[in-house]
Amino acid sequence: MLYTQSIDTVNTIWYNVDMNTWVKWCGKTVQCTYCREDITNGEPAVYARHRLQKSDDSSPWTVNFRWHAKRARDGQCCYITNQLEYLAAHPRIETRGKKKMLISAEVRSQRLKLLQRRARLVQRLKVLTMPDMDFADVDAITTIGQQITELKGLIEPLGGIPNSWNR
Ligand SMILES: [Zn+2]
Repeated sequence: MLYTQSIDTVNTIWYNVDMNTWVKWCGKTVQCTYCREDITNGEPAVYARHRLQKSDDSSPWTVNFRWHAKRARDGQCCYITNQLEYLAAHPRIETRGKKKMLISAEVRSQRLKLLQRRARLVQRLKVLTMPDMDFADVDAITTIGQQITELKGLIEPLGGIPNSWNR
């Protein structure tokens, strides 16, 4: 089975089917995958071996990596630095609340209208309650507050009240 993590080279997606990582004393001087400086014999080093495949039936391709575990000149772990850079380049995708709901297209469209109506009301409320307003239109604020509350009851049967509405 192919893993989902993939490496995209030019026009080819390589699936990472096996990843092994270990730490040991460097046995012979090699170049660091990250900083390209030498890792000298006797230094601690992080090693990794990835097996990549283009598809389930293609022959795997093995790639070896080695990093400074603690670079002599500054103590940097090039492995961690490298991985953190990778994470920074691939921002976390927020999936909470984004799961597709099992509701009909009609219900979805009604729900969307309520979401939009609430967004407009919240926007108006923000304007009405801005600190530099000359006076607070308490009646308008109260009315909008009530309308926002009523929307909860309307959206409840259309897939439930969004979590963000309860904050
Ligand atoms: Zn390094």
